[in-house]
Amino acid sequence: MTTHWESLLRPPSEAHWVSLLDEQGPATGNLHPIPPDPKPGRRRRSSVDGPTTGALYPVPPEPDRGRSRNRGARTAAQERSRRPGGFVGALLWAGAVVATVGCWTDLAEVASTADGLAWLGRLTGLLAGYGAAILVALMARIPYLDRTIGSDRLSRWHALGGRGTLALSVAHMVFAMSARVVRSGVWEGTFGLVLYAPGILEATVSLAFLLAVGLISAPAIRSRMSYEAWHYAHFLTYVAIYLGFAHQLTGPSFGGVGAWAWRALYLGVAALLLWYRFALPVIRSRRHRLCVAGIRRESPDVVSVYISGDDLDRLAAEPGQFFRWRFLTKGMWWAANPYSLSAVPSGRHLRITVKAAGTHSRALFSLTPGTRVWAEGPYGALTAARSRSDRILLIAGGVGISPLRALFESMPGDVTLLYLARTVEDLVLRGELDAIAAARGARVHYTVNEDLTVPLTGRSLSRAFPDLADYDVFVCGPRGMTQKALNALRRAGVPKQQIHLENFDF
Ligand SMILES: Cc1cc2nc3c(=O)[nH]c(=O)nc-3n(C[C@H](O)[C@H](O)[C@H](O)COP(=O)(O)OP(=O)(O)OC[C@H]3O[C@@H](n4cnc5c(N)ncnc54)[C@H](O)[C@@H]3O)c2cc1C
Repeated sequence: MTTHWESLLRPPSEAHWVSLLDEQGPATGNLHPIPPDPKPGRRRRSSVDGPTTGALYPVPPEPDRGRSRNRGARTAAQERSRRPGGFVGALLWAGAVVATVGCWTDLAEVASTADGLAWLGRLTGLLAGYGAAILVALMARIPYLDRTIGSDRLSRWHALGGRGTLALSVAHMVFAMSARVVRSGVWEGTFGLVLYAPGILEATVSLAFLLAVGLISAPAIRSRMSYEAWHYAHFLTYVAIYLGFAHQLTGPSFGGVGAWAWRALYLGVAALLLWYRFALPVIRSRRHRLCVAGIRRESPDVVSVYISGDDLDRLAAEPGQFFRWRFLTKGMWWAANPYSLSAVPSGRHLRITVKAAGTHSRALFSLTPGTRVWAEGPYGALTAARSRSDRILLIAGGVGISPLRALFESMPGDVTLLYLARTVEDLVLRGELDAIAAARGARVHYTVNEDLTVPLTGRSLSRAFPDLADYDVFVCGPRGMTQKALNALRRAGVPKQQIHLENFDF
């Protein structure tokens, strides 16, 4: 059922609500026709097979409401995903205590200022070394972390942890040098230490690299750089960690088991990084042989890219998730950008829907069928497994409709979609959304306003959804919009654990 959002809100002057009922129709035409399935015999029937919308993607059969309303019938995946990220956080803090345990036995021997400074140097050094390993692990794209915590939250932890680790590294250097200055004088404590102590010159270069990475990550500088320049410069962190490693094992807190455990930590993290970020994407690309099947212009600045491949169900991608896409064509092969699946994945096809924001996204408009693709993923925790309730509200801002379109199609329960856009043209995929709404008896409300966030107030939402506190709410869009939605939902009484956000900027 498609209704006017306008009718749900008073006063209407809060925003300019636009009726779309009589403007519906198919999206703009294909730039490239979608090729027929090259191996129809091999196509596995997916759970979404059913009457089609007339496009490449079928509309799902009516969800089994009896089952979805039964709170006792949760899947194992749903139960798993309910484990809070707090468990991982607690484990990380516990690791920090274990990593520094040697320091506490040394504490009894602190008898002078120099001893105190040296002790502080050891403590901050161990914490910085542990922090560096954890920072890399957080970005190793480990599926368990990604599913339980979510990529955007992991990125935030990484950014926060990065600042902490940098501060600890600087503190470590200051304390260690000060201890040496108090004991042996200024020359010995500074240049002498850096030039002649084993591994310290490398550690100093390592710190300089870390500071450089910290500097380019400061918002004022990062906003002036292209994402790719920032991303590749970030790789200096790996060099820094490598250079800093040797001197970590020369510290007095290390011996026997401790040194081996430290090596195991670093080797384990390196193995995870190499496997998940490098080996697995290569293996999967060879196995699935992804390539562009066609593209479809959804609006002047939004395009859908259809990607075909072999045995895609083995990727176990879920609606709401995203991949990092590398298109192996001139000018694009060196960048891997994140785009969400905008339709339920099938064994033969994936689809993304992308708004032109800059160089990479704009280049998608001129992709030609047959272009080879590498996809890293699936990532992201914005999936049906997150929901606790059988009443679902999806709030999409602009091209944030992408993952929510896939969820709207597949999410079990009583689903309502609220789709906010700046202009009528920006309301892409409307034909599909209406077809899905009709097929499953769901509701879709459209709003159009130059300020995407206008309808997102606690009062408006409570009025439109009087029992909103019982809903699970999935929100996706630009950061300003998701933040406003979060505040409005909290004011409307939705518990935090029932709000699931995905920002399109990390
Ligand atoms: C999890 C996730 C899912 C997304 N899904 C979609 C989607 O379905 N449809 C869609 O239109 N957009 C999506 N985006 C946003 C999309 O990734 C960016 O708009 C796009 O990468 C911009 O790249 P550009 O070269 O065109 O523009 P640029 O001008 O280079 O970048 C614009 C901004 O996009 C962000 N960005 C650029 N490259 C990356 C990258 N590799 N990783 C993370 N952020 C980057 C940066 O914040 C940058 O400042 C998603 C983003 C994230 C994080």
